Amino acid sequence: MAAIGRFQKGDDIFHAKVVDGEVFRLNGDVFGSPSFDKKPTPLKGVKTLVPVVPSKIIAVGLNYADHAREAGKELPKEPLFWLKAPTSLIPDGSKIEIPFAQHRNDFEAELAIVMGRRVRNVTPAAAARYIFGYTAAQDITDRTIQASESQFARSKSFDTFTPVGPYVETKIDPHDLSIQLFQNGQLRQNGNTSQLLFNCFQLVSFISINMTLLPGDIILTGTPAGVGPIESGDRLEVRIQGLAPLVNAVK
Ligand code: MG
Repeated sequence: MAAIGRFQKGDDIFHAKVVDGEVFRLNGDVFGSPSFDKKPTPLKGVKTLVPVVPSKIIAVGLNYADHAREAGKELPKEPLFWLKAPTSLIPDGSKIEIPFAQHRNDFEAELAIVMGRRVRNVTPAAAARYIFGYTAAQDITDRTIQASESQFARSKSFDTFTPVGPYVETKIDPHDLSIQLFQNGQLRQNGNTSQLLFNCFQLVSFISINMTLLPGDIILTGTPAGVGPIESGDRLEVRIQGLAPLVNAVK
């Protein structure tokens, strides 16, 4: 497998492999040993969906030292994580909707881990075999609400606050990838996943001690420095090396 997406045509929802912009329908269980159509599916009327349907989204905070510094926070001694509502997901190309225009709302570009197998209590050394792949994401945040509360659920779980996709890359080393966010074509965040304080395998291990991870669960690995406010009309693009870009407008 390589880049796996989820698509809709009419009432028909299906997974497919994406090769050079062409879509080859997947047959069988996406997390099992699927086969693929030999001929591409015609793209007319095909919509891109969020690539998986997670039981939960786990978001990790303060996982890049330069972002912790800009946020004025100490580096965490253990991974800091919380849950985002699955209903906050939107696919590539959908609009982020700002609920309170008078609040500050920020972009946060993040590498996302997509789980492929059920796992509990896994070691970092064994974590990779439970991971399906990696995709681009944003952890959109109402900073005004976040600053007024000690919990992050409300500030980060508004509908549309978790763009993810467009596809899951199943064959990539996640630990040396440039990660960038462009706002209206301007470079705002520019990091590398080699700077993660807790790497992907350490995160999966740590979280799996706390809760069972299921196929399709999404882990946002944290954002590098450079977060900033968004406003209606913005075009936001997350570019992670080796992954298709994730593009969303704001309204
Ligand atoms: Mg974040």
